[in-house]
Amino acid sequence: MDPIDKAALIEERLALLYRQLQICHLCPRRCEVNRTAGETGYCGGGLEAVVYTAFLHQGEEPGISGKQGSGTIFFSGCNLRCVYCQNHRFSHTLEGTKVSPDDLARIMVRLQERGAENINLVTATHFLPWVLDGLARAFRNGLALPIVYNTSGYETVETVKVLGDVVDIYLADMRYVTPSLAERYSKAPDYPAVNKLALRKMYEQKSVVWQGRLLKEGLVVRHLVLPGYAEETIKALAWMSENTPQALVSLMFQYQPYFEAGQYPEINRRVNEDEYERVMDFLDELDLEGWTQDLVPEADLAGVHFKPTLEGLI
Ligand code: SF4
Repeated sequence: MDPIDKAALIEERLALLYRQLQICHLCPRRCEVNRTAGETGYCGGGLEAVVYTAFLHQGEEPGISGKQGSGTIFFSGCNLRCVYCQNHRFSHTLEGTKVSPDDLARIMVRLQERGAENINLVTATHFLPWVLDGLARAFRNGLALPIVYNTSGYETVETVKVLGDVVDIYLADMRYVTPSLAERYSKAPDYPAVNKLALRKMYEQKSVVWQGRLLKEGLVVRHLVLPGYAEETIKALAWMSENTPQALVSLMFQYQPYFEAGQYPEINRRVNEDEYERVMDFLDELDLEGWTQDLVPEADLAGVHFKPTLEGLI
């Protein structure tokens, strides 16, 4: 769809989206707090979007980062908040810069001017009305890049319906298929059920479209392998093979016990070689396309060191 048509579509839906904040049900937590009256729910999000940082990200999947980098905007706060989160510094807090929809539009357009291959909105759902408001303004100000919606996969089908005409690529996690794990590590026992519905809806909306080596449209299902849970990964891959076979898969082995993972002895280590091989052997049996990571030695793993800055972008 043409960017101006997308802007018009968002503008039509904005009043309804902002109204959702009165009994907040933007995400499956359905806290039903009145954010317009200053109440906050699980995510902590208030009445302004908060961005931790934005930059041209070279570390996403090759089809997303391309040559120039993905114009990535990391929002602060999160509706999932996993105990092992590598971005806990800003996902478990609201550390960052409060931004207006006009600020967001400027950030997006400036990322485009800097050569971004796309605009990559990371963990945006708890700020959805402002994010889409900003996106509409950016489209009106010349933004013409594909839009990537980068999500934990803990989304309602209603939200995915709103996003369907507006975003081009879903970069969506499938973190768990077992409710007890989702409860233990992310306080979301309904995650597997909710996530499967959301992924199915995304899959229905998007077919994979490439332009050379760059992804222009589609669903990428990301799965982070957890130590001790190779069987969980195998179940997740089997589900993808059956339910979203034409989607791209990104199988990640970069897990490190960040944040509170030390309090959970069973995940207080990296994935080992046996687990890696078991998962990769199973993947080999499937007809799935996408990307995997190598099991690199700990010393070679890059840490998370995003600078909290929007310098030059607003
Ligand atoms: S967006 Fe935040 S306040 Fe709203 S339902 Fe989700 S967690 Fe609760």
